[in-house]
Amino acid sequence: MASILLLGSTGSIGRSALNCVRRLPDRFSIAGLSAGNNIDLLIAQIREFGPKAVCVAAPAAAERLRELFPGVAVFSGRPGLEELVNDRDFDIMLNALVGAVGLRPTVAGLLRNKRVALANKETLVIGGDFLRPLLDAGRGSIVPIDSEHSAIMQCLAGVRNDAVESIILTASGGPFRDLPADRFAGVTAEEALNHPTWSMGKKITIDAATLMNKGFEVVEAHHLFRVSYDRLRVWIHPQSIIHSLVELHDGAVMAQLGLPDMELPIQYALSYPERLPLAGRRLSLPEIGRLEFFEPDFGRFPCLRLCIEAGRQGGVAPAVANAANEVAVEAFLAGAIPFPAIAGTVARALEYHKPMAADSLEAIEEADRLTREMVRREHTNPR
Ligand code: MG
Repeated sequence: MASILLLGSTGSIGRSALNCVRRLPDRFSIAGLSAGNNIDLLIAQIREFGPKAVCVAAPAAAERLRELFPGVAVFSGRPGLEELVNDRDFDIMLNALVGAVGLRPTVAGLLRNKRVALANKETLVIGGDFLRPLLDAGRGSIVPIDSEHSAIMQCLAGVRNDAVESIILTASGGPFRDLPADRFAGVTAEEALNHPTWSMGKKITIDAATLMNKGFEVVEAHHLFRVSYDRLRVWIHPQSIIHSLVELHDGAVMAQLGLPDMELPIQYALSYPERLPLAGRRLSLPEIGRLEFFEPDFGRFPCLRLCIEAGRQGGVAPAVANAANEVAVEAFLAGAIPFPAIAGTVARALEYHKPMAADSLEAIEEADRLTREMVRREHTNPR
């Protein structure tokens, strides 16, 4: 029996994780939950799973929860997330927060020597350099939830690190995979949110449309699997059946296949290294018939190149790319900037940022804050 502290319980990953707990009540229980502003759903989750502690974004919502659930410790805001992690014991922290806000809770979980089942991308994208010494010192462990990294971890089971020649992350290519370059300026938020194979939250769906998401995943893979950028590749694979591949130095290529559904990677991150049964639709390759692969087009998808370059540059560059992207995606969703301006914003933020080591949380957060300020200024006063 493992108790889980679930951060981001009302989002897409959070709800799938609770499905997993619901299916396996003898294996998993919920120690604590955190949510942003979807308080009604959080209340239903508290009633069903009985956590002893929760955290919400707003103090007013926290007040309401204290009245409703006198036996539950209620925290609020960003500091509340760390207080929640440090409040009482649990076995696994599942971090499904969206955004840079996810880094500090991961650090707090690792400092408590816990397993962090990680769905929050930003933790490794902006904090990879900072986390490395912690992980090297054996403070906790990170088990990835993202389908690509879960696939790589499954391919690497029983493989020695020095036998790895390259790692290939697959990408569906998003809704604009075949869109001609001159049409990108006119795409709407609605079109960008219409992902062909995966159903996910809004922010990540836009990142999948720009391929920024794949850039993030390359940086994450670099930190998770300790593979240099020269050995990391991306292949466009529209069917999203092969979730990633590992090429070994004897020429063997390992791949993990499955239908696009996050329940398996979530369950595996929670039960790792054990594999538990999971009912549901099964993969039938004859039914699918054809699996296709293409090299990515860095010209039409500049975010992919920019993000990998930021990863190679290291220091706070990935934090800058992430912050610029986060603000630009919000602006695009609000109809304030056109789709190609997301990449333009990231490019300019990287060009003008002051390179610095990412060796403290303060340095990372300062780069994040300065970038957001710069991008907001630029969006209000476009040149
Ligand atoms: Mg992914």
